[in-house]
Amino acid sequence: MRITLLGTGDATGTPKIDCSCPTCKDALNGGQSERLRSAILVETEKGRVLIDTGPDLRYQLIREGITHVDGCIWTHSHYDHYAGFVEFHRIQKHVPVYGVTTTLDYILNYLHFLQPKRYDVRFHEPFELIGATFTLFEVSHPRLKDCAGMVIEENGKKVAITGDTRLEIPVESIEAMMGADLLIADAIAPPEIRLIKHMNAEEALEMARRTDAKSVIFTHISHLYPPHNKASLYNSTQPNDEYTPEKLHSPQKRADERWPLGYDRMKIRL
Ligand SMILES: [Zn+2]
Ligand SMILES: [Zn+2]
Ligand SMILES: [Zn+2]
Repeated sequence: MRITLLGTGDATGTPKIDCSCPTCKDALNGGQSERLRSAILVETEKGRVLIDTGPDLRYQLIREGITHVDGCIWTHSHYDHYAGFVEFHRIQKHVPVYGVTTTLDYILNYLHFLQPKRYDVRFHEPFELIGATFTLFEVSHPRLKDCAGMVIEENGKKVAITGDTRLEIPVESIEAMMGADLLIADAIAPPEIRLIKHMNAEEALEMARRTDAKSVIFTHISHLYPPHNKASLYNSTQPNDEYTPEKLHSPQKRADERWPLGYDRMKIRL
């Protein structure tokens, strides 16, 4: 399978409106600090699925040349994870949408003028899509309830995505993520900043170690990190370059003053 990070930004995106910090300046100057809001593309030989559909989806689809998807899976009902669905719906009718019932109820109420094909799923009950197996599990993102992370398995490879969460989550969710070839983890801010709704960089690395992930990429990144080329271990500027898990950061290793920050359009082949 192939994973493309369409948007690695937090809810405000980078640059943030009315901010002139070095990271926002780098983003405005076209650097890799520019981050659109959450969306991940999963591709197999059988099709394409979007994980979350943030408000920047139109531009993300245009620049990746995507005109059709076989489904969208929503992790939770925050605006920065679903609002772009409207953009897509004008291109393709009746997109199958997946999520837990509370999430689908909220989002489809907001999108009441659309009629996507709805599939309610439950935590820990795997479902098949594009020849891959998807399993949602519960994470903790106060005060919203029923927020999901997920595991994707295909051809003996496993990817875990934390979704928006803090470090403390149910033990069954840790078990579901165990031993992933790649963990994509919410790491909104550097370690000196403590948060109640999200993990910081140190907590995200701790999550990778607890789940015995072979490699890790951070996402949902705010402008509070230094500019990308100073802060990240991943600096390819070619949008078509593909990483493999072996080329990614192992959470067991130390990396002084740099973190495994993903970037928009980053691609991983598993
Ligand atoms: Zn978010
Ligand atoms: Zn800033
Ligand atoms: Zn959220």
